[in-house]
Amino acid sequence: MAMDLRELAVRQVRGIGPRKAEDLQALGIETAYDLLEYFPFRYEDYHIRDLAAVKDGEKVTVEGTIYGAPVLQMYGRKKSRLTCKVVVDPLMITAVWFNRHFIKDQLTTGAKIVLTGKWEQNRLQITVAEHEFPDRGGASRTGTLQPVYSVAGPVTQNWLRKTIRQVLAQYGQWVEEILPEELVKKYRLMPRERAVSVIHQPEDWEEGKQARRRIVYEELFLFQLKMQAFRALNRSKSDGVAHSVDSQAVREFVRSLPFVLTASQKNVIAEILEDLKQPYAMNRLLQGDVGSGKTVVAAVALFAVVKAGAQGALMVPTEILAEQHKRSLEKLFAPYGIQVGLLTGSLTERQRRDARASIQMGLTDIVVGTHALIQEDVIFHRLGLVVTDEQHRFGVNQRSILRRKGLHPDVLTMTATPIPRTLAITAFGDMDVSTLKELPKGRKPIKTYAVPHDMLERVLRFIRKEAAAGRQAYVICPLIEESDKLDVQNAIDVHAQLTHHFPDLSVGLLHGRLSNQDKEQIMAEFSDNRIQVLVSTTVVEVGVDVPNATLMVVYDAVRFGLSQLHQLRGRVGRGEHQSYCILIADPKNEISRERLKVMTETNDGFEIARRDLEIRGPGDFFGTKQSGLPEFKVADLMSDFEILEKAREDAAELVSESDFWTAARYLPLRDYLQRSQVFSGHPFD
Ligand code: ADP
Ligand code: MG
Repeated sequence: MAMDLRELAVRQVRGIGPRKAEDLQALGIETAYDLLEYFPFRYEDYHIRDLAAVKDGEKVTVEGTIYGAPVLQMYGRKKSRLTCKVVVDPLMITAVWFNRHFIKDQLTTGAKIVLTGKWEQNRLQITVAEHEFPDRGGASRTGTLQPVYSVAGPVTQNWLRKTIRQVLAQYGQWVEEILPEELVKKYRLMPRERAVSVIHQPEDWEEGKQARRRIVYEELFLFQLKMQAFRALNRSKSDGVAHSVDSQAVREFVRSLPFVLTASQKNVIAEILEDLKQPYAMNRLLQGDVGSGKTVVAAVALFAVVKAGAQGALMVPTEILAEQHKRSLEKLFAPYGIQVGLLTGSLTERQRRDARASIQMGLTDIVVGTHALIQEDVIFHRLGLVVTDEQHRFGVNQRSILRRKGLHPDVLTMTATPIPRTLAITAFGDMDVSTLKELPKGRKPIKTYAVPHDMLERVLRFIRKEAAAGRQAYVICPLIEESDKLDVQNAIDVHAQLTHHFPDLSVGLLHGRLSNQDKEQIMAEFSDNRIQVLVSTTVVEVGVDVPNATLMVVYDAVRFGLSQLHQLRGRVGRGEHQSYCILIADPKNEISRERLKVMTETNDGFEIARRDLEIRGPGDFFGTKQSGLPEFKVADLMSDFEILEKAREDAAELVSESDFWTAARYLPLRDYLQRSQVFSGHPFD
């Protein structure tokens, strides 16, 4: 009978008392299993090296012979500096210890000594962190890689090393293989028992690398297995609505659009309609760069659902966007008698009551709103489809809210955040992903320039030129009003300056502190070209669609993130006219310069995301934690990308095999799924 290490509390392990057990608990370690899976995040290398190959400032382990008597200097009662000459063939170097005066007597001439510490080439000196006397016995680190764990509080590195070593020796044999044999064979993975042992105490770098590879694969595979199992489960349920889509009517609607759909749009719409017809609840992500035409895809899907007798909801992150979508949907749907309602925070109590009543009675076919839409007590008559626009702007998981309300509508999630494929397949492993790969025909690439502040005169002349040609401009400022803390442009001042500078043009001002009514008014005037120059904060960052605007000017551009700049730039270039983006900035460091360069070099959101990740790392890119991206113990989403893709394919294939759910050899995996609660809710909930 195998021993279940998950059942073995650390308290029961020899050498771990109740006090230490508590300390371990603070690190999230409860069982022997947790201890074994508490993997090191790096290693200290105690292999003896030749000083000739060591760079200045590097940490190194060397072996030598003590030469001459040690010299001790005391500073006060506790501080001291101990030096000793050591011959590390062919050099004579100085070893320095700080505050370790008590070892002086051990430093006897002629004794062999191994020193580990920082090498200072110019002074031929090592600042010793650790030392050993190889001839005097005792446990030796020399020639090994020592694991470095993340420790905190009373748990020390050395204690944890010792404890994990001991647990490995005592219980390591009970670590069971959980991956299917065929996968272990296919990738020549280290068996689990060995990998868990090796990753804590590798003989050399190569062995450590193989152990890591095995553990990374397992981690990513298990994650994907969870997502794929969830997806399969979702698809096997018929708690969704099988909409009877009227293809004829949909075709007619598409023909009535003011433009011809791109091939990409057609494909994506076909994928969505196919899902809508199925009895399971659709769970699809629509990715497409800014301006690729996601709204109309949503409109077609909503149309199909309404024609099939259900209601649709379109959720957006801002009121400005809600208003805009409502207007454009109304325009498209007017000839079909489809009722579009609005539900946002700015409605009066009374308006809201009315809106809710007509949603509940089914008089409203499509309701557009901020996320209050599904969070509030809005009762639908027959909710068939929920579309979330600019999904990355929502912190919470919409699906979980819907499910908690007992609703199983089809869900279409749209995002323009250029998510590199790497991260998309991870975060949305259980979603079907549709991608708009092209922009509508006739779009001219936006020309982007980065210019210093002292070229403002020229920028203003350019604004005038575009206005004279009948076009419009956005001018974005980082702040609403003057700040004594930040020396950056603010919208109120810039608005005043531009109003003065362009007496013959209508210059508008938009920011988050205006009332919703004022915002709406300004946006409507800009839409109708009654305002030519709109000075604004980032409230227009996402979704805003005014195709006649051809110029985006961003003040203090270094204050914005790359994806934000890309979104802002996406407000122009939405029509047939050549568009421009001018980034005003005086970059003070290399990173800022690099980022501006990326913007001027490419219009491709995916490329920008990739470069952004390179410059900043993924955490930052997504606004750290709220990204909704899973965190892994060992795997790294960027560098382990290839393993991730393989793991995904393998997991999907396995889950689709009929004997996966019954065969005994998959029991450890099914057990894993059971324990990760795949069957009771979404793994991200
Ligand atoms: P996004 O994907 O950024 O949400 P939108 O849906 O707002 O993009 O579309 C951007 C602009 O392109 C809108 O003005 C829209 O009317 C227009 N558009 C969408 N599809 C097409 C098309 N196939 N041909 C021409 N223009 C289109
Ligand atoms: Mg949009």
